[in-house]
Amino acid sequence: MERCPNCRARWDGGDTCRRCGMELGLLLAVERAAEALLTGAVAQLAAGATEAASRTLDEARSLSADPFIGHLRRFVHSLRADPRESAHPSDCPGNPDPGERSIQQDPNAT
Ligand SMILES: [Zn+2]
Repeated sequence: MERCPNCRARWDGGDTCRRCGMELGLLLAVERAAEALLTGAVAQLAAGATEAASRTLDEARSLSADPFIGHLRRFVHSLRADPRESAHPSDCPGNPDPGERSIQQDPNAT
């Protein structure tokens, strides 16, 4: 939040507007919730969970008009339209799928 939605005074970081006294705490909480959802969606995307990221971004969009959320939603929808473009962690040689790793017991090590 940069300005009070009621009087447009510059926000000074407090829970109430310094000019009109409007209570801003709930609005700030919604803003933080949207940011947390956006962070979660980026993590889901990084993990290759495109469908989950799409749902999380829809939820974030319902809380915030941040244009970045809209851009990311369109990006995710383009990935869903063309699954070949979907990144998967196991595609990256520097980041092997932990599921493929197993601790090998050496049968001769006794
Ligand atoms: Zn105000």
